[in-house]
Amino acid sequence: MGRTLIKAKYIITCNKTFDILRKAAIAFEDGIITYVGTEDKIPFSTSYFDEILVEEEGIAIPGLINAHTHAAMNLFRGVCDDLPLKEWLEKKIWPLESKLESEDLLYGNLAAFLEMLSTGTTTFADFYYFNELIDALKIIPLRAIATVAFLDLVPDGEIYWKRFSELKKYFELANSVEGGLVKVALGPHAIYTCSRQLLEKIVEVSEKYRLPVHMHVSETVDEIKFAKEKFGKTAIEYLDDIGILNERMIAAHCIHLDENDIRILGDRRVNCVHCPSSNLKLADGIMPVSRLLKANVNVCLGTDGAASANSLNIFNEMRNTVLLQRGVNLDPTFPNAREALLMATIDGAKALGLEETVGSIEVGKKADIVLLDGRSPRLLPEHNLVSNIVYSCTPADILYTIVNGKALYRRGKFSNIDADKILEIFSGRALKLLSA
Ligand SMILES: [Zn+2]
Repeated sequence: MGRTLIKAKYIITCNKTFDILRKAAIAFEDGIITYVGTEDKIPFSTSYFDEILVEEEGIAIPGLINAHTHAAMNLFRGVCDDLPLKEWLEKKIWPLESKLESEDLLYGNLAAFLEMLSTGTTTFADFYYFNELIDALKIIPLRAIATVAFLDLVPDGEIYWKRFSELKKYFELANSVEGGLVKVALGPHAIYTCSRQLLEKIVEVSEKYRLPVHMHVSETVDEIKFAKEKFGKTAIEYLDDIGILNERMIAAHCIHLDENDIRILGDRRVNCVHCPSSNLKLADGIMPVSRLLKANVNVCLGTDGAASANSLNIFNEMRNTVLLQRGVNLDPTFPNAREALLMATIDGAKALGLEETVGSIEVGKKADIVLLDGRSPRLLPEHNLVSNIVYSCTPADILYTIVNGKALYRRGKFSNIDADKILEIFSGRALKLLSA
C-alpha cells in the first residue's frame, strides 16, 4: 500500500485534548498513521514517501462514522415518504424486501458506499443482509460493522435461531474482506420482533464472543405501549431485566425515555445512536440527547437507512443534532459544534468498539481521513473551523475520503471504481423492484 504524506493547513485531530494543528502533516504507512504534527517536524525525508498530497488550504478531519444504517435500503429511497413506522414496515418495506434478489442487495450496497464516500463516511454499522454486504465490501472496501440480524416474532421467524449455530460462517465471511475492515455484531431487531428467549440467547453469545449487540430501542410510542402492556415496564427496564444493556450495546434511536431509563442507560454504559433525520421524518420523536449526555451516556450519530432518512450524509446529522436539542430545550449553549463533531467521530468509534482503531487522527490508528477544501466559501472565514464544519460545510467541500490509507474518493471521482456502471445497474434494479 505504501507510504503517504498529506500536508494540510489544519488537522482537527479529535484526540482527547481536541488538538487543532496548523501547517500540519499526517504520514501513514500501510494504512497506519505514523506521524501527526506540524509540517516542519516530519521525521522522514520526502523521498521516503510513495505519494505526497499537498493541500495548502486543506482541513483534515477523522473519517465520519455512521453508527446505524441499513445501507442497501437505498433501493427504496423515496418509495414511502409519508407513513408511520409500523405501516411503513408492514405495508411497504417488508413486502418489497420479500422480492429482493442478491444482485439487488449487492448494487444497493455499492451505491450506498459511493454515497458514503462522497459524504465523508469511512466507517458504518450496517443492519441488513449480511452476505451481500460482504460481497460489496470486497469491491469497495469501507470499514464496517456487519450485523447478523435476528427476529423470531415474524412469520418463519424460527429460521433466525439457526444463525446461532452458523456464527463461524459469519466470522469467516467478515474475515474474508481484506485489511481487517469488517467486524461482526449480533442484531436482535427490536423488542416487538424478538422473543425474550431470543434476547437471552443473544446475551449469552455476545458475552461468549465479546460481540457488540446492535438493536433498535425505544424508537416509537407504539413500542413503549407494547412494552408496558406486555411486560408492565418500559422497553429499557425490560431490556435491563434481560441483562442485554452494557457497553457492547449499540442502541439505535432511544427516543422515548423516562428519567429512570436514562439513569439505567448511563449506569450500564450503553451507546445510543441518534438518527435525527429518520426520527423526524417518520415522526417518531426526538432523542433527549442533552439529558443522555448529562447522564454520561455515549451518544453517537447514524442516518438509519435511506428508505426512511433518504440520505446517508452524516454532516446533516451533526447539524440536526445541535439544532434540535437547542430548539427543544431552549438552551443555546448545549450541545455545541465540537460535541457534534465528536459524536460523528470518536464517540461513534467507541460505540462500535473501534476506539483504538479509528475516530481520531493519532499515531497508531488507521488512516481513515477526510480532507476538506478550506477554500470553499462555506468554510471561510476561519474564525471557528469546527463551527464551519458542523453548520455550513457540505459534502461538496470534500477533496478526499481516505479509508485504511487508500484515497477511495478524490475530487469528485472514485478511485478504481466504475461508479457510473454501478449506479446504472442500481437504478435499473431499484425501478424494476417497484414495477414488478
Ligand atoms: Zn434502523
